[in-house]
Amino acid sequence: AEALLRVENLVTTFNTAEGKLSAVRGVSFSLQKGETLCIVGESGCGKSITSLSIMGLLPSNGEISSGAIYFEGTDLTKLSKEELRRIRGNKISMIFQEPMTALNPVFTIGYQIREPLMLHQKLSKREAHERGIELLKQVGIPFPEKRMKQYPHELSGGMRQRVMIAMALACRPSLLIADEPTTALDVTIQAQILDLINELKEKLNMGVIMITHDMGVVAEMADRVMVMYAGEKVEEGDVASIFANPRHPYTKGLLKSVPNVDDEQYELEPIPGTLPNLNEKLEGCRFHPRCPFATEKCRAQSPPEFKVKEGHYVRCWLEKGVDIDEPAAAATS
Ligand code: SF4
Ligand code: MG
Repeated sequence: AEALLRVENLVTTFNTAEGKLSAVRGVSFSLQKGETLCIVGESGCGKSITSLSIMGLLPSNGEISSGAIYFEGTDLTKLSKEELRRIRGNKISMIFQEPMTALNPVFTIGYQIREPLMLHQKLSKREAHERGIELLKQVGIPFPEKRMKQYPHELSGGMRQRVMIAMALACRPSLLIADEPTTALDVTIQAQILDLINELKEKLNMGVIMITHDMGVVAEMADRVMVMYAGEKVEEGDVASIFANPRHPYTKGLLKSVPNVDDEQYELEPIPGTLPNLNEKLEGCRFHPRCPFATEKCRAQSPPEFKVKEGHYVRCWLEKGVDIDEPAAAATS
């Protein structure tokens, strides 16, 4: 079946005072309906820029310089701003870490939830109001009638996040992009919000892209995982193989930084070093300055994508000759 979303060789660049920077460097992946893909990596690895590229919400100095983004068969990179706006908030929705940036402080919750319903679904004000109340109920907000009349600052952080999810789901999107949606919340509320997203995904058969740096969230949410490093996809696989058999040294490092409550000897083992500066010329594998296994070859030549097994791919020279000999061609189509 045609994938809900298929990103092909996406390259996203930024014009800055120091020149052109590539924030996303030839990333490909796809997503099916009813599936959750977690994109993981450190802040600055390109995961948020990947999602903003899909949404057509790049800052004014950013652009998609090549590649394609097929959503339900249509290449979003070919659409006008107006056509994209119609898809956004209707068929594709996004939720962010800090709902205050998405909610307008000067309008009531009711106004903000009605507006997209009247605009995209052509509901009357009254119908939109009824549907708004229904949506707030659906995301577990008590006294929804009262909440409709309140302003964002009158709600707790967890309630605001629920409102944002309700707004994101108002038009029954087929794709939900969630960028670190629970990072700012305490653990109990975080677990509730993740459960809610899972439940709504099942109910609406949405595709979900969940962006996170937290492997605990990945374990909770993902069907498949894509690991990004310095603008590149370095590993991709189903969640079970990524956890049981991580191949890339960077993925292994991310997994080691997940606290294991059963292990008394556990010590936090962060990955030493920092992401390369984006305008730094870096030959070879972009992870080599931080990699304990780096060889001369790694410093000279960027590794291609190797197939570990069906659906599991890695960009690391270590893989060559370990399980297979040939790079996986067009691995993610
Ligand atoms: Fe490390 Fe080399 Fe693999 Fe890069 S290609 S992750 S430097 S072993
Ligand atoms: Mg981010």
